[in-house]
Amino acid sequence: MARLTVLTVPDARLRVKAVPILGVDDNIRQLMDDMLETMYAEDGAGLAATQVGINKRVVVLDLEDHAPGLGPLKIANPEIVWRSEDVQKNWEACLSVPGQSAQVERHTAIRLKYLDENNTTQEKDFVDWVSVCLQHEIDHLQGVLYVDHLSALRRNLLIEKAKKFKAS
Ligand SMILES: [Zn+2]
Repeated sequence: MARLTVLTVPDARLRVKAVPILGVDDNIRQLMDDMLETMYAEDGAGLAATQVGINKRVVVLDLEDHAPGLGPLKIANPEIVWRSEDVQKNWEACLSVPGQSAQVERHTAIRLKYLDENNTTQEKDFVDWVSVCLQHEIDHLQGVLYVDHLSALRRNLLIEKAKKFKAS
């Protein structure tokens, strides 16, 4: 396994749209494991391939503290096929916007279609914090950061503060 470098704002690679993978093979499984290792080392709960400069639709997540028994999720080609009308606001943070957090509105529940680490298609419902984190990670694959859901003023402020935080 290898630790990868997490990109931070304003790196332009965070704005690149990821492309679907052809299937989950040993290379993708290695990427998923490297991403998890990186995420644990950085104390994150989720990581998208976009954040390590890899242009593939792959995300990993570990929310064992919030959803006991869920275990680490390794997800490729995620597609949100249903969103609840209910929304909720949560405090979000991001390894790519270091040292900052803000409240963002997300759908309370989603249904996700994806390939698991065995290249098997899954379709599952996720709620609350797991749903919120998945929406955050899937945004990354579109080149979208959680601060994009805020006003331009607030977004620019958080990005400036993140740049200073990283430099300090
Ligand atoms: Zn993030």
